[in-house]
Amino acid sequence: MDYFPIFLRLANEPVLVVGGGAVAERKIDLLLRTSAQVRVIAPELVPGLAELAAAGEITHVAAEFRPEHLDGVRLAIAATDKHAINAWVARQADRRNIPVNVVDDRELSRFIMPAIVDRSPVVVAVGSSGDAPVLTRRLRERLESFLPQRLGTLAKLAGKLRPTIKARIESPARRRKFWENFFDGTVAADVLAGRSVDAAEIEKTLGTGGQDAGEVVLVGAGPGDPGLLTLRALRALQNADVILYDRLVSAEILDLARRDAERINVGKTAGGAQISQDEINALLVQLAQQGKRVCRLKGGDPFIFGRGGEELEALAAAGVRFEVVPGVTAAAGCAAYAGIPLTHRDHAQSLVFVTGHTKDDADDSVNWDHLARPAQTVVFYMGLGHLERSISQLRAHGAPESRGAAIVEQGTRAEQRVVTGTLADLAQKARQAGIQSPALLIVGEVTRLHETLQWFNAAAANPISKQVRLTA
Ligand code: SAH
Repeated sequence: MDYFPIFLRLANEPVLVVGGGAVAERKIDLLLRTSAQVRVIAPELVPGLAELAAAGEITHVAAEFRPEHLDGVRLAIAATDKHAINAWVARQADRRNIPVNVVDDRELSRFIMPAIVDRSPVVVAVGSSGDAPVLTRRLRERLESFLPQRLGTLAKLAGKLRPTIKARIESPARRRKFWENFFDGTVAADVLAGRSVDAAEIEKTLGTGGQDAGEVVLVGAGPGDPGLLTLRALRALQNADVILYDRLVSAEILDLARRDAERINVGKTAGGAQISQDEINALLVQLAQQGKRVCRLKGGDPFIFGRGGEELEALAAAGVRFEVVPGVTAAAGCAAYAGIPLTHRDHAQSLVFVTGHTKDDADDSVNWDHLARPAQTVVFYMGLGHLERSISQLRAHGAPESRGAAIVEQGTRAEQRVVTGTLADLAQKARQAGIQSPALLIVGEVTRLHETLQWFNAAAANPISKQVRLTA
C-alpha cells in the first residue's frame, strides 16, 4: 500500500487552493462539504467561484501565488492550468510539510483524492493509488446505487444513542452485540425506509437489547434474469435470515442471497408434493414471530397472480410487520426480451393481464367478449394448460383467426424460446416445439413485431448452458 487512507478533520481549518478555474471549482465544491475555510489564490475566478466568494463561502485572494500564502495552512491544492506553477506550489508545500495535491498529477502530489460516496456522517472512499481512476469511479457508482440513501440518518441516530448505550450496557462484547442487533432490527429498517421512528420504538429496542420482532419482506424476483432484480430486492435477499421461495425463482437469484441464510423451497417439488397456501401463511407468521427476518421471494411481481395479497392478509391478521418490493412481472420481462412491445400506437391501445386458470377453473369468470376485442394485447399467465381452449374461446367470441399471437417460454432466461403465429396455428406450433411451463401466451397484433424487434440472444446470454446442451 503506497497510499495510507485517512479521514482528515477540516472543520474551520484553513485550506489553500491555487487556481480559480473550473478544475479548482470542482475541488472547492468538495471541500465545502466540510466547514473548512477555503482560501483561493487566483488573479481571476470563474463565475461560480466568484459567487461563492461574494457569498462569503470562500475567501478570494486576487494575486499570483507566493509561498507566504501557505503560512498556517493545513492542506493545499494546486489547480492552475500551468504545470510550472503547480510544481512550484507542490515543492513549497512539501518543504513546509503541508500535504499537497496537484490536480491530475500523481507525481507532484503528496495526497490524492479518492472517489467518494457521501452519506454523511458515513463516507465511503475508493482509490486505486492513481492507477485506474475510471475503475474507481465505476466502483463508486456501484456503491452509490447499492448503499441506502438514508444510511447517514441511521448513522446519526446511532451516534445520538451511543452515550446512552454506553451507560446502560457495561460489557463491550454485549454492547457490540446490541449494535449488531440494532442495525439488523426494525428501528434501523424504519429509518432506512424513511418511516418516522418515535422515541417509544427506540426505547423498546433498548429494552430488548436491540433484538426485536421479525418481519417479512415480500419480494418480487422478476421473471428469471437476475439483472432484473431491483436494488431493494437485492438488499432484502442479503439481509434475510430465512428465504421462502417458489418454483419460479431462478437459481442465479438465490445465489445472491446471504450465504448463511436458510432457504426453504415452498414451490412444487419434482415428486408433486406441495406445501399448501395455508401452510405457507402459517410458516411465514411462525418464522417472523421467532424474530427472524424473512424474505418471501416470488417470481415476477408478488401482486400479479402471485397470491402475495393472501399471504399479507395472513401476516396482517397475526400482527406481523411486512414490506413489499415490486418485481418485473413476467409479461413485462418476456415482452421486452422477446421484442414484443405490449402496447403500440398502431396496434394496441390497451393491455389486459389474465390468468389462464382461475381459483375453481370456471371459465365463466372470464369475459371472453372483452378479451376477443381488437386493438389490444391480452397476456395469459398460466395459460399453457388451457392453450387450445383459450384460443377457441377467443375465436368463438369474434377474434379473427389471423390475429397475431406468441408464446414465450422461460422468458428472460438463457433458455428463452419464442414461438409466434396466429390464432389459427399457434397451438399446433407450440405443441410441435414442445413448449413447457413457465410460458406466457400473448395475443395481439403487437406479436408480429417480434420478427423485426427481437434482440435477445438467449444462447449467447449463457454460453456455458449452450455448451452443455450441445454436448448433452
Ligand atoms: N407473479 C408472477 C406470475 C406468477 S403466475 C409474475 O408477476 O410474473 C405463473 C405464470 O407466470 C407462469 O405460469 C407463466 O405463465 C408466467 N411466467 C412466470 N415467469 C415466466 C417466465 N420466465 N417466462 C414465461 N412465463 C413466465
